[in-house]
Amino acid sequence: MNISELLAYQSRKYPDHEALVSPHVRISYQEWDEQVNRIANRLKELGFKEGNKLVVHMPNVPEFMSLYVAVLRIKGIVIPINAKLAQREIQYILDHSEAQFLVTHELLFEQSQNLAEDKHLTLIKTGEAEGDWLSFDTLLKGEATPVECDAKEGDDASILYTSGTTGDPKGVLFTHRNILTVATMICIEMPMSKDSRVLHMMPLSHSAPLHLFMVAGLYVGATHVLAPTFTPDLLLQMVSKERVTHFFGAPVAYLMTAKHPEIEEYDLSSMEYWVYGGAPLGTNEVKLVKDKFNTNKLVCVYGLTEAGPNGTLLQSEEHAEKSGSIGRRAALNCEIRLVDDEGKDVAQGEPGEIIILGEGTMKEYYRAPEKTKESIKDGWLYTGDIARQDEDGYYWVIDRKKDVIISGGANIYPTEVEKVLMQHPAVEDIAIVGVPHKEWGESAKAFVVVNDDVADLESTLKAFLENKIASYKIPRFYERLEALPRNATGKLLRNQLRESQEASL
Ligand code: ATP
Repeated sequence: MNISELLAYQSRKYPDHEALVSPHVRISYQEWDEQVNRIANRLKELGFKEGNKLVVHMPNVPEFMSLYVAVLRIKGIVIPINAKLAQREIQYILDHSEAQFLVTHELLFEQSQNLAEDKHLTLIKTGEAEGDWLSFDTLLKGEATPVECDAKEGDDASILYTSGTTGDPKGVLFTHRNILTVATMICIEMPMSKDSRVLHMMPLSHSAPLHLFMVAGLYVGATHVLAPTFTPDLLLQMVSKERVTHFFGAPVAYLMTAKHPEIEEYDLSSMEYWVYGGAPLGTNEVKLVKDKFNTNKLVCVYGLTEAGPNGTLLQSEEHAEKSGSIGRRAALNCEIRLVDDEGKDVAQGEPGEIIILGEGTMKEYYRAPEKTKESIKDGWLYTGDIARQDEDGYYWVIDRKKDVIISGGANIYPTEVEKVLMQHPAVEDIAIVGVPHKEWGESAKAFVVVNDDVADLESTLKAFLENKIASYKIPRFYERLEALPRNATGKLLRNQLRESQEASL
């Protein structure tokens, strides 16, 4: 079994079934499979060899879906990258991966127009050919002759670059087996079938949208509804118009959509699973989303790129009591534990690092054996997430290990303090990081975006925190910022704040 074979199989089984739907395209499984053969044949003519790497820089469009499978069909390695990446970030990935092909979308062309010249790189873009760039149309004109793919489950399939919130982006290498394992998990945990209609609105360059929803949908022959971007309007329109059954989105997508003034007017009754992950939704937020979306079908997934992202699930019925937690059991196909710095299980209630065991976990960090060794020990993936298990066995993520501030031997979890400070009416956004301190090793510093004219930020916020949290957790230093540094997906770049402090010392 390999990912390319999934498409060939569905095309034989359901040739006329609707496979890809986008604002301008509707094609069946047979048509999709044929398009993949054409692209695969033409790529070979262009010199693509087994094991070659192709970077796909595209929004969620049918071309992305076809390229992804075509590269796997000719036993290449596919590297989907976030559409919002800037030129410098694309260059980093091209250099690090030593890819031979780059395919970009005409709307994103500006980001790759001035990449460093590299005569080993074949450049392709949608729309017109330009300079050294071939047109994507030439791929579609390849021979339609079926391309047999004998890739084995253990063969390398793709590299996803992490978003770099904890340092330089790392290349997470997956085999076909890794990806198929997490895809099966979703097909069973949130049952999908040929009749499912899966909306892909979050970037398919990320593991959850790609493996959990795109490959899972392919596994069962579902219909893939593609949206090149997210807006609350578009989400509501597409769900009601296309009778969508499965959607995955970041919590912020749900919160933004909940504020849509006409949400009640859309028919969202086709939905079977509203899935969110990447961050928690708190009790009040869950209540708001359930009310506004008029649904009980909210499921939380916890995981990280390196785990496929297999991890845990908080099912809809568990949200009533345990919103904000990541559930109390590992999802299908993996195991989880909480351990201390020596790798020993912690007692219930104590904080420990989440470690995950399963076939969905990455093979390795590409070209980074030391990092792989630090992250995978005895097959267990060390996630760097600190969590606690409550008396009912539910896991609650407290913070990332790298973000914990150790001040005078005491642990300060920045997220806990940030949550309290966010309740201050003048605080718009906040990030707390550890800065070097002569006596205590580290000390907490708050970077604050305020929406009001606060005369003395430090004393105002210190006074606000008093009696709300232990005094050792109250940040000692404060700085105003216009905006916090965030990456293309909106995640906070704490390391940038930390590095700016180290540099200024
Ligand atoms: P990098 O690895 O470069 O820092 P990243 O933070 O974007 O990039 P992802 O794999 O996208 O990496 O994010 C995974 C992290 O998101 C997890 O390790 C965890 O900290 C957090 N996370 C994921 N799902 C949840 C959830 N349901 N609840 C709380 N936190 C979550």
